[in-house]
Amino acid sequence: MDGLFEIKHGYQLKEVMPTQEKQILKVIAPREKHWVGNGFFVSSIFSMHSEDYKNISPFILLDHAAPKYFPPTEQKLGVGEHPHRGFETVTFAIKGEVEHRDSGGGGGTITTGGVQWMTAGSGVVHDEFHSREFSEKGGDFEMIQLWVNLPAKFKMNPPRYQSFSEADFPVIDQDHDRIKIKVIAGSFGSTVSPVKTYTPITMYEVNGLANSELEIPLSEGSNTLVVQLSGKSSIGNQPILRGNLGIFSRTGSSILLKMEEESKVLILNGEPIDEPIAAYGPFVMNTQKEVMEAFRDFQEGKMGNLVV
Ligand code: MN
Repeated sequence: MDGLFEIKHGYQLKEVMPTQEKQILKVIAPREKHWVGNGFFVSSIFSMHSEDYKNISPFILLDHAAPKYFPPTEQKLGVGEHPHRGFETVTFAIKGEVEHRDSGGGGGTITTGGVQWMTAGSGVVHDEFHSREFSEKGGDFEMIQLWVNLPAKFKMNPPRYQSFSEADFPVIDQDHDRIKIKVIAGSFGSTVSPVKTYTPITMYEVNGLANSELEIPLSEGSNTLVVQLSGKSSIGNQPILRGNLGIFSRTGSSILLKMEEESKVLILNGEPIDEPIAAYGPFVMNTQKEVMEAFRDFQEGKMGNLVV
């Protein structure tokens, strides 16, 4: 009888325990914009060189090309041939289209609402341009490029490409259809993204009407970032304005997001990779020696070339 009581008592304790909310550590305003090649006018929302790095990992860089009108042109706009090694680049075409080619002989177009999840791994060479069709017509262009780190044991894995169109991602309605959650990576409840990741990552694009509200469960010990792409939201009493980045504590297992205005918000969540980083330009490794090797391998053509 005593044993039974204990089990029952323990169960009750667990049930009444409230979910602990993650604490917001910092809100960072957008930095000045700079051109990447001649096609991407971006604000670097965060990077691995930041003092907040331990609360950002496994994410290592996020560039946002805020909506910008490009007039029709015959010119190719973007960045020419360049290498990557040791991490993944995730490109979101929010408005407009991005065309790419790579040293594996692959290539294609990331269409509006689509995402390309490229594992550079041991090394790729690629280029990234506005699509020819988009350039010829002109229009509003908005893009995100996110870099996701790989732990040492996966950095030299073979390159991998995952390409998704808007229709490939499941969307969940919440708060009486006033909020739409696009599940880009990981899962939300029983809804699972088609993206394969090397480490546990969940990523949502949340589109909400003014005064809508959403509780997002997240795993304890993970790092959580909130990027306000448009509109205005708040978490606790902390307002998050357009272009702002919110950084959260590893402890806690949820956040409560309130849309003050109609908003588009990107939620990035992942298991931290607590390993040393040695990064230079397009290479993100663990040691300086590995970065030097990456430069040498690229120069010797070991990461391949684009077929002209
Ligand atoms: Mn690139």
